[in-house]
Amino acid sequence: MNTELLIGGKFVKGEGEGIVVLNPATGATLATVPEASPGQVDAAVKAAHKAFGSWSQTTPAERSNLLLKLASRVDDEAVNLATIESQNAGKPYVRALADELPAIADVYRFFAGAARCLTGSATKEYLANHTSMIRRDPIGVIGQIAPWNYPLMMAAWKLAPALAAGNTVVIKPSELTPLSTLAFARLLAEIFPEGVVNVVHGRGPVVGQPLISHPKVAMVSVTGSIGTGQAVLRAAVDTIKRTHLELGGKAPVIVFDDADLAAVVEGVKVFGYYNAGQDCTAACRIYAGKKIYDKLVADLGSAVGSLKMGPTDDEATELGPVISAIQRDRVAGFVERAKALKHISVVTGGNKGVGNGFYYEPTLLAGATQDDEIVRKEVFGPVVSVTPFSDVDDAVAWANDSDYGLASSVWSKDVSRAMKTAARLQYGATWINTHFMLATEMPHGGMKMSGYGKDLSMYGLEDYTVVRHVMVNLG
Ligand code: NAD
Repeated sequence: MNTELLIGGKFVKGEGEGIVVLNPATGATLATVPEASPGQVDAAVKAAHKAFGSWSQTTPAERSNLLLKLASRVDDEAVNLATIESQNAGKPYVRALADELPAIADVYRFFAGAARCLTGSATKEYLANHTSMIRRDPIGVIGQIAPWNYPLMMAAWKLAPALAAGNTVVIKPSELTPLSTLAFARLLAEIFPEGVVNVVHGRGPVVGQPLISHPKVAMVSVTGSIGTGQAVLRAAVDTIKRTHLELGGKAPVIVFDDADLAAVVEGVKVFGYYNAGQDCTAACRIYAGKKIYDKLVADLGSAVGSLKMGPTDDEATELGPVISAIQRDRVAGFVERAKALKHISVVTGGNKGVGNGFYYEPTLLAGATQDDEIVRKEVFGPVVSVTPFSDVDDAVAWANDSDYGLASSVWSKDVSRAMKTAARLQYGATWINTHFMLATEMPHGGMKMSGYGKDLSMYGLEDYTVVRHVMVNLG
């Protein structure tokens, strides 16, 4: 198991404090990984800065070929990486292997292709005797900060477009889940020239903060909580850095009376509780039409109650633990406060799991109202609330009445009604009669306090470039 940092093409031991890394399914220690010292963060940024000169001048084809090699190495190492991811992030192993690893390889493949398709536009004489052209160029050193819910996937969403565009990178995984990214650093080091990608590890305020504040970092990309996004914005002020923010979510799910009930039940069972609900797009806030409400609550309650929570190496397990004891207690706190309200009923779940792992039962709460904390705040755990509505205007207003603006869904057999409702939602993504489905070709990103960076797609690649105007005097 690699516990070393990658700085300037070399693997080095962190010189900072040892961080104990746990298996959330058992509470056992997996490793103690020393974090980077401030000097090591500085060295990583300087290595990336030095490498930018030559890496930014490589051809798209050269960068594309290296990203394709990386994708193949992800395929080769899928079992090893899925094992580490499962153990460190508490994911059911089969899900990590069957869902996440192929999607990660696909992201590197997509951006390998996209690197060669990025075009400037508008080559023309806008002034007589002067030819203008638009270039899309890399920005420089990108500081990247990843969260714990999908460590390798979020690393892929960040690394692939940044490298494809010709930037160099210093990436920091979450201190809770560094192991897969540190293992992945071995593949990065095999493939990319020294200094192009650097991996540091450590806590946000200790290691993340000097990275996001470093004067040689030209852009910071973060996926994390709103608080961390705000820290990034504050740190960006001094040197006017670009920022790319992917923050939290509280996805509304509007279910009309004419929706296909079985499809809604199956959809929320899967997409509300996937990754133990630790997903910024989780289908966690249902608004159900008055006529479908009772049946939906009953059927969904049975479906959610049937989800199999268990050991992450058991093939039958559908729901693993949440990431930490702190997170489990945070989830429990939300549910306890909701339970204390007379109008809310617990349809299923509502308790911590037993044992040393950080499990929380898949939970469905009915009768929630718009002002309840459980409807307004991101729980980031296996908890879904249901609120009845009688008027579509209320449902849309409630759905939009949120600090967040990442993902949403609308369920109805009437396509026209679904489309009209989708058009009124203030969310970066709206699914109709499904939820959570991602396509690498399509942008993923938020509005409002969910941030404004786009991941995936050509938009994701563009976010890691700067538009430049070059004008030639034809003499
Ligand atoms: P977090 O903000 O606590 O941590 C995210 C990362 O930021 C970690 O690597 C952490 O070390 C680092 N960090 C914390 N403080 C920092 C600082 N001052 N300077 C630099 N780095 C700092 O978030 P988390 O708990 O790891 O992840 C959960 C959050 O991420 C949820 O709110 C979730 O919705 C959000 N998320 C969003 C998306 C998206 O695409 N929009 C995807 C996944 C997760």
